[in-house]
Amino acid sequence: MVEYVLDKHDRPMKDLRISVIDQCNFRCTYCMPAEIFGDDYRFMPESELLSFDEIIRLVKIFAQFGTEKVRITGGEPLMRKNMDQLVARIKQVEGIQDVAITTNAVFLVKQAKKLKEAGLDRVNISLDAIEDEVFKETNGRGIKTKPVIKGIEAAREAGLPIKINMVVKKGMNEDQILPMARYFKQTGDTLRFIEFMDVGNHNGWNMDTVVSKKEIIEQIHKEMPLEPVDPQYYGEVANRYQYEDGSAEIGVISSVTDAFCSTCTRVRLSADGHLFTCLFASVGYDIRSMLRDDEPDEAIISRLIHIWTKRDDQYSIDRKNGKPTRKKIEMSYIGG
Ligand code: SAM
Ligand code: SF4
Ligand code: SF4
Repeated sequence: MVEYVLDKHDRPMKDLRISVIDQCNFRCTYCMPAEIFGDDYRFMPESELLSFDEIIRLVKIFAQFGTEKVRITGGEPLMRKNMDQLVARIKQVEGIQDVAITTNAVFLVKQAKKLKEAGLDRVNISLDAIEDEVFKETNGRGIKTKPVIKGIEAAREAGLPIKINMVVKKGMNEDQILPMARYFKQTGDTLRFIEFMDVGNHNGWNMDTVVSKKEIIEQIHKEMPLEPVDPQYYGEVANRYQYEDGSAEIGVISSVTDAFCSTCTRVRLSADGHLFTCLFASVGYDIRSMLRDDEPDEAIISRLIHIWTKRDDQYSIDRKNGKPTRKKIEMSYIGG
């Protein structure tokens, strides 16, 4: 039986985000800048990562509290072997209705079909520019758009519903808003713009580098008229719009200029099994050691209830109100 646990703002624990690996084949300047995540950066050894058995044990526990959606992320999740097997096992957990992956798509050419067959419901693909010269800069590795576009095509051919995520940062890629909108209007895929956020401690964020939801929508609307679409469910983070000609939809995730903490139902598990109640948290709770010390489910359950019922996070609202920031966990560690 499902027992809903509510935090201090009456938010349930609905969406579980699991980072399965902290490594990545990209070095996006806004996420894992190459100056910090260089060749000598120490990523987690495999023994520190939660095993698939450990992940499944936790997913079963979360499902008892009403968690319905699981998103697999990283780092680059498809760098971890046998992800199709993990997807298939998560899909079998009673109560889990939706399993998604967030990826940079490069490995989808090889894996899209297997993932679809394993039961993956959808895929979110990150692409921050359609022009090679800009994309080569944003991904920090000089990678052209072709491998990503090929990955998108493979996902489409496999029958996976796709959303494209574009982080917009002033001075980096705001000139790509219209070219990206034009490209994905024509393919019919949903493109979602994400306001650049101050995740981690190294991405050089300040308010002047944010391109707001308002600016993004105005730019597109001028050329390709848009109309708003009603939210589909409680806690939906993207403000959705459709082109008036019905060709496609876009969304904007305005975590900076229009924070949505009041309906945030996300709980995050890092690759080494620490639990975080906010993307901008400074500390996590070590659940892996409970698993590895063979503690019973009851002990893990009572720890989760304790953590969630005292959850008071609303970092994006506090940021907007000018509250001083603190040292935060890195996005590649906690998972986006
Ligand atoms: N590697 C995968 C990918 O890029 O899709 C999954 C992990 S990535 C950390 C998850 C999401 O976080 C991506 O959509 C990425 O664009 C987004 N992201 C990373 N850093 C960000 C930042 N500073 N502001 C906003 N979004 C960010
Ligand atoms: Fe890697 Fe994704 Fe971060 Fe880019 S956004 S560095 S692809 S984890
Ligand atoms: Fe949720 Fe924290 Fe983001 Fe607010 S800042 S929406 S509480 S993850």
